[in-house]
Amino acid sequence: MADILVYALHYEGAINKNSLGAVSEGARLASELGGECHAIVVGGDDLTDELAGSVGAYGATKVYRARAPEGLAQPVIDAMAKVIADNGHGYALFGGGLLGFEVGAGLAARLGAGVAMEVTAVRAEGGKLVAERPILGDSAISEINFRSDVGIIIGRLNAFEAKNADPTHPGAATVEDVEVELSPQAQQATMVQRGEQRGADVDIEGADILVAGGRGLGKAEGFELAEELAKAFGGNSAVAATRAVVDAGWYPYAAQIGQTGKTVAPKLYLAAGISGAIQHKVGMQASENIVAINKDANAPIFEFSDLGIVGDLNKILPKLTEAVKAKKGS
Ligand SMILES: Cc1cc2nc3c(=O)[nH]c(=O)nc-3n(C[C@H](O)[C@H](O)[C@H](O)COP(=O)(O)OP(=O)(O)OC[C@H]3O[C@@H](n4cnc5c(N)ncnc54)[C@H](O)[C@@H]3O)c2cc1C
Repeated sequence: MADILVYALHYEGAINKNSLGAVSEGARLASELGGECHAIVVGGDDLTDELAGSVGAYGATKVYRARAPEGLAQPVIDAMAKVIADNGHGYALFGGGLLGFEVGAGLAARLGAGVAMEVTAVRAEGGKLVAERPILGDSAISEINFRSDVGIIIGRLNAFEAKNADPTHPGAATVEDVEVELSPQAQQATMVQRGEQRGADVDIEGADILVAGGRGLGKAEGFELAEELAKAFGGNSAVAATRAVVDAGWYPYAAQIGQTGKTVAPKLYLAAGISGAIQHKVGMQASENIVAINKDANAPIFEFSDLGIVGDLNKILPKLTEAVKAKKGS
């Protein structure tokens, strides 16, 4: 089947930007396959006709609305599996993000479908979709063809651009309510709290100067030292982090660099309290200048740093901030 089903995540009365990108991409691909792009939204009473139908402006012709908890993977998997079984969609498309990865992977398991993750481009070829996925630290591209009846494609965050197909006609998509019987596993979890992370929109990939903090900062508040230095540098500077500190909840996931985070190549990468694990290195090794501060002279990060400072970051970072401010006269 040539129809594509896109999961449209929503929060506080708006459809997620990456989901809208996936709808735009789904509409483009469906038209090349000779099919239609449909979206699915999951949620409670806040899911109005207007909100559900708003994806129509990005190219979806129909929106399935399932009344089930939003923000948790299992209810969305139940809803998508039912819609695909009833309507025979050939592909499910996700805009990326942690929930998209979780739902896409779960849906693949449920349907016995092939799945391509971290996809950066998709094209139609011979009536089927081919997904492109960067591999080997983004140094090569693999192409993924699907042999299963349903192909599941999960984009890398920001891979698909949201293009408003018809700004004069928002809500053009038909809204169809679907009844979903939640599986036992979908009833095992409830949403306790949902909110924006501090700095979740931080653009570390576009920064010229990155002050990256690791476990050596000691605690979440330790990041203030990194933030003060980045502020002193000014201009296009930002704060980044290792996975260890992101996992500990000290800094937002959006700032994570490495194998399971972002890949960066700033003019200056200043690593404070970072050991230099291989999984971190693959995300920052292309930086023009790498400066590392670590109290352990044998830390692996010194093996690929242009300048290494052995010492306590709690003493060095404030001095560096002062020196940068003095140099800039601020
Ligand atoms: C499958 C997989 C994927 C992963 N993906 C990623 C990823 O994407 N990104 C990532 O970063 N990691 C990733 N990791 C984790 C990685 O292996 C490391 O555990 C992690 O990078 C370590 O983070 P860290 O350097 O902050 O902490 P640590 O390794 O604990 O290093 C802390 C450093 O701080 C120094 N230090 C402590 N106190 C001070 C002080 N006062 N002054 C100066 N220095 C001090 C210490 O000497 C030490 O070198 C992944 C791991 C796995 C298994």
